[in-house]
Amino acid sequence: MNSGPADSPWEEILAESVTGAGMIAELFGLDADELKSVTERYPMRINPYYLGLIRRKHDPIYRQCIPDIREIRLDDGLDDPLAEEAFSPVPGLTHRYPDRVLFLVSASCAMYCRFCNRKRKVGRPSMVNDATIEAGLAYIRRHEEIRDVLLSGGDPLLLSDERLGEILSALRAISHVEIIRIGSRVPCTLPHRITQRLTDLLKQFHPLYLNTHFNHPDELTPEAGAACVRLADAGIPLGCQTVLLRGVNDDPGTMRELMQKLLMVRVRPYYLFQADLARGTAHFWTPLEKGIEIIRELQGHTSGLCLPHFAIDLPGGGGKIPFLPQYVESRGSNSLEVKNFRGQTFRYPLSPF
Ligand SMILES: *Cc1c(COP(=O)(O)O)cnc(C)c1O
Ligand code: SF4
Repeated sequence: MNSGPADSPWEEILAESVTGAGMIAELFGLDADELKSVTERYPMRINPYYLGLIRRKHDPIYRQCIPDIREIRLDDGLDDPLAEEAFSPVPGLTHRYPDRVLFLVSASCAMYCRFCNRKRKVGRPSMVNDATIEAGLAYIRRHEEIRDVLLSGGDPLLLSDERLGEILSALRAISHVEIIRIGSRVPCTLPHRITQRLTDLLKQFHPLYLNTHFNHPDELTPEAGAACVRLADAGIPLGCQTVLLRGVNDDPGTMRELMQKLLMVRVRPYYLFQADLARGTAHFWTPLEKGIEIIRELQGHTSGLCLPHFAIDLPGGGGKIPFLPQYVESRGSNSLEVKNFRGQTFRYPLSPF
């Protein structure tokens, strides 16, 4: 029998997560009181699998999961950076774009990322419950323009197979819902969750897409790779939404390695996000030029399959907008002067006919 990528059931691994400041303070020589003051405001959960990926203090894995005093010392940022609540007709559902909605169905994650843009909400049971899920489903039923439902959270794959199956069945029973998408970080943070039983369930709901979230090549372990391949084998197209994070992946070489390695486990880079301006995450922010520089060093230098859309999600609820490096040098009356990826100049006619 083919079980998950490792032998322990995922629920047991998750149950052994570190949530208290004491052990982490001891492990890394940190001030337990300082750590506690952070975790009182923003919950910590690090499951033993993800904790085991840390090689040394302050490495890219450490920075993503270990609380930092700057989360409460630096006060820049917004509580709801994307105005998800202002665009929320029912709690837990955001309807910002004409044909699709973001639907939060879980409040917990396999690891609480320190840079999370919903860090004021994740890990709090009040965020999502059966009533908000029912209200969300009813809203989607009433709105025939919704053809694409993006399940998010928290992490939808922390629901039990049974609960997830109920929600997916309810969505598939709505005839105008064409596409179901799941946003989940568990292929990265708890790959053991991607069992054969889960993929057998998910593949009953096609067309179903899954966008996962890897930020560093060190997260692409054999277990994580096996989880992605198992999802792909169930016919689920996989994308990746990476967040650009200072001290984690803010250099072109790291990003190229990540994107190339994602393709090896059949995950197609989808978005590279500028970190949202969420309160408590300012120590991760990068200048806008950094993302553009990274895209410039990917475009043409490696396969187009490796190229995510670099996007910012506008504060105040404007939605996502893509940013591209500038390739047009000047515009003449009949032609454009453009630079290619090597910096060489070419002319291209505006109307070739
Ligand atoms: C990101 C997002 C979506 C999905 O956007 P795509 O560009 O289609 O991937 C939908 N709704 C909300 C509120 C979002 O933030
Ligand atoms: S997995 Fe996603 S929702 Fe959960 S803490 Fe990380 S970034 Fe936030």
